[in-house]
Order: sequence, then structure tokens, then C-alpha cells
Amino acid sequence: MSPKRYDVAVVGGGPAGLCAGLWLARYLHTVVVIDSGDPRNWETRGINGYLGHQGIRAPELRAIGREECTKYGVDFVTGVVDTAVNETGELFAACLRDGTTIEANRILLAIGIKDYWPDIAGLERCYGETVHVCPDCDGYETRDKKTIVVGSGRKAVGLALALATWTSKIVICTNGEKPDMNQALLDKLKVLNIPVLEAPIQRAVSEASEIVGIELEGAMSLDCERLYFARLQRFDLICELLGARLVTGGHILQRDDLRRAEAGDPPEHPLAADRGRRSALHLLDPARGRANLRLSGLVRKDRVAKC
Ligand SMILES: Cc1cc2nc3c(=O)[nH]c(=O)nc-3n(C[C@H](O)[C@H](O)[C@H](O)COP(=O)(O)OP(=O)(O)OC[C@H]3O[C@@H](n4cnc5c(N)ncnc54)[C@H](O)[C@@H]3O)c2cc1C
Repeated sequence: MSPKRYDVAVVGGGPAGLCAGLWLARYLHTVVVIDSGDPRNWETRGINGYLGHQGIRAPELRAIGREECTKYGVDFVTGVVDTAVNETGELFAACLRDGTTIEANRILLAIGIKDYWPDIAGLERCYGETVHVCPDCDGYETRDKKTIVVGSGRKAVGLALALATWTSKIVICTNGEKPDMNQALLDKLKVLNIPVLEAPIQRAVSEASEIVGIELEGAMSLDCERLYFARLQRFDLICELLGARLVTGGHILQRDDLRRAEAGDPPEHPLAADRGRRSALHLLDPARGRANLRLSGLVRKDRVAKC
């Protein structure tokens, strides 16, 4: 039996992919959302700042999104898309790890990003509760808390400065790395009284999911109530398989015959959902997205032009 052919295959069923699927289906396209069930924020205990859904858990939000999409006829497939090819120039074939192939006229990538974790024992017990990555998402809950920022360079300084909105009790730990901070960055930290420690961290100390401190090499320890890590994130590499090239900082460079859409992370749920919606609309009508082309996906330029 030949595989079912869709107008659009959305790869990734997080807020971005679900919202894209919903909008494409509302425009009467046949849509399949393929999802591997490994979202970035699985660990979070509750989503903050999503209007009407304060504290909702990630699986609940997805379940609501899937239910809405299903009402519009969106199909769902569970699986990992390993490759996406368009050898014929006509159709994309999304090839799943289990050997299934799904054909679609267009592919929209909404694969999210993944965080690189610092190698610190015990962090996983607190992640999503008192250990975080995003000041926008969890800064409010960090008010007046003793907070450790793990990282180095501009990224760590930027995170510490962002967190200074909510707390003045911040220490940066580079975890054995060189601080990699020029005088201008150090001056900013000085103004806010944010020290930088370089000793390697041996483990995170916690009570249940509450982080209470870290132990550093040299029998030092440091109390804390929150820990943020400032690390680079990565795309999983399906984008490269489509022929696009990834560059540092999470941006996608387009191949000539592919339209670049998403670059960087949709940092919060509302943004991710909005970018999913805008990607969908842009896929339907490229002119709409031109003013602010920050969308999620890669689509063939010629196909877009024909829509
Ligand atoms: C710990 C934590 C807490 C957070 N808290 C908040 C918060 O409180 N408020 C807020 O607004 N935002 C929060 N965020 C940010 C939020 O999680 C993201 O903005 C949002 O999840 C991005 O949605 P997305 O759909 O782009 O990606 P994701 O939610 O990561 O979904 C991407 C999906 O694509 C799938 N996928 C990837 N590759 C493939 C493939 N090759 N084949 C098939 N499927 C694939 C994955 O399995 C995943 O399900 C938090 C993030 C983290 C890490």
C-alpha cells in the first residue's frame, strides 16, 4: 500500500507544532503531526505565564492541544523522524526510525531545542522545580531567593543580570571553567555585587526536589534556594538532514532551495505557540510573514510560492 500523502507534515508536537497543525487544518489542509514525545520541558512541574493556563503541566497542555487538533482532522503519529528528504523535487518523505515513511508536500519543523546540562550530580532531582534555565519562565518564583548561576562568559553574565530583576542574592559559579568575562562584564557584576567562583562543583545538595546548596571542590559549600544553568542549547539534527546547516547560537542557515524559517528557540510557551501559528500562516501565504520572519520550519520556496 502506498503511504498516505499529506499537504503538510509537522515534525514536533509541542506547543509550536500543535498550534501550526491546528491552523493548517483550519485552512483545510490535510495535516499530520509526528512527535517523538521528548519535549524540552518535560521536567517542568508547572508552566508559568501562559494566560489562562497558569501552572498547567506540560503533558496536560499537549493533551488539550491534541484534542483541539483532532477536532479539525489532524492525524498524529508517534515516532522519531530520522531523515527528511525530497529527492524527487516534488514531495518530501519523512522517514521514521521504525521504517515508516510519511509523504507530504511540505514539511514544517517544530522540533524545539534541547538543553546541554552541566555535569553536576544531583541536579536532575531538582530540575524544573528549583533548578531552571529560563529567567522569563521562573524568575518570578525566584524572588529574593539565594540563587546560583552555573556558567561562564556572556551567557552566564546575561543570565545573572536578568535574574537581578527578582533577587539580589546571586553568585556565579563557573564550575571549573575560566570565567571568560571581559572588564565590561565584570564591572556590571561588580555594580550588582555578584561574585564569580571558579571551583568545580562536585554535587548539588537537595531535600526532595528543593535544592539547598552545592558542594565545591576543596571542601567548600554554598547554600542556595535556586540554581540556573547558562549553557548552550542545540537542535537535534534533522535540519541538517534536510540540507540546512546549523551554526552556533542555534540558528539555521538555509540551503538555496529551502526557505529558512525558524532560527533560535521559541523561549516560552506563548511564543512557541505563536510562532507555530505564524509558521502555518506563512506556509500558506509567504507574504504574511515577511515583515517578521521568525517562524518554525523549513519549506520549499517554490512550493510556498505556489500556495
Ligand atoms: C525546565 C523548563 C521549564 C520551562 N518553563 C516554562 C514556563 O514556565 N513557561 C513558558 O512559557 N515556557 C517554559 N519553558 C519553555 C517551553 O518549554 C518552550 O518554550 C516550549 O516547550 C517550546 O515549544 P516547542 O513546541 O518549540 O518545543 P517542545 O515543547 O520541545 O516540543 C518539540 C517536540 O518535537 C519533538 N521532536 C523533536 N525532534 C523530533 C523528531 N526528529 N521527530 C519527531 N519528533 C521530534 C520532541 O519530541 C518534542 O515533543 C520551559 C522550558 C524548560 C526546559
